Amino acid sequence: MRYASFYGERGDVRPGILDENGLRPIDAPSMRAFLEMSREERDARARRDAVPLDGLRLAAPVMPPRNVICVGRNYLEHAKEGAAALGLDLKLPSVPTFFTKATTAVADPDAELHLQAGVSPQYDFEAELAVVIGERCTDVAEADALRAVFGYTCLNDVTARDLQRAHGQWFRGKSLDMTCPIGPWIVDAADIGDPQDLAISMRVNGVEKQHSSTAKMIFSIARLVAELSRGMTLLPGDVIATGTPEGVGFARTPPEFLTDGDAMEVTIENVGTLRNVVRIG
Ligand code: MG
Repeated sequence: MRYASFYGERGDVRPGILDENGLRPIDAPSMRAFLEMSREERDARARRDAVPLDGLRLAAPVMPPRNVICVGRNYLEHAKEGAAALGLDLKLPSVPTFFTKATTAVADPDAELHLQAGVSPQYDFEAELAVVIGERCTDVAEADALRAVFGYTCLNDVTARDLQRAHGQWFRGKSLDMTCPIGPWIVDAADIGDPQDLAISMRVNGVEKQHSSTAKMIFSIARLVAELSRGMTLLPGDVIATGTPEGVGFARTPPEFLTDGDAMEVTIENVGTLRNVVRIG
């Protein structure tokens, strides 16, 4: 099952279920409100009549997320390339490095990402598998953690590299407006199979820049959810970006940063492709 948010005639954003007939609206004011319902209640909320997809514009599937929690350096080869590019020794963390992106950074699938040239000359891409939490959970055991996951989507953790470094904490360099496209939809966790065995890639203008597998995560999704929930409640509508593999722009030789008109595509096996064009001016 694929869940999407879409724009109504009045610009309002509503949740729905995508199937072969189109989109079946869900009787809920928002995807977050839908996620906050019990499983039984959710099942009763989908309408039977599908509306055709033609002319429908998709929104970020959870808008706004309650939180966008991210993980730094969760693929070994990315941790290596980052250390090499900065001339640092590779030191792997014993616990995940968590940070957040402001929810005002979230952007829609297919949206043009308007970025300000005067704010940063170093916009970079990061293909990531994102987890959407569907159950309130605190102190969840790693063995039970995936039960809290409603589904999976694609996320591009667009980053202003100079700001990421200049400010010590990554928050500002990761939180500029339109630097967190999410989508195009959420695939039900039950339809994904093993989330640690999915191909993940980033193409820029059709050229593959990142290609890996979620099997290569240092900290598994179950570990990330369990670790986060220790003494800290996760709620429906929380989004967790699970880290990016190697191949990002700043670590390439020579470094490559995004330029006006670049088209980015995050593709994750069994999930879909998230496309966005950047407009830098
Ligand atoms: Mg990232």
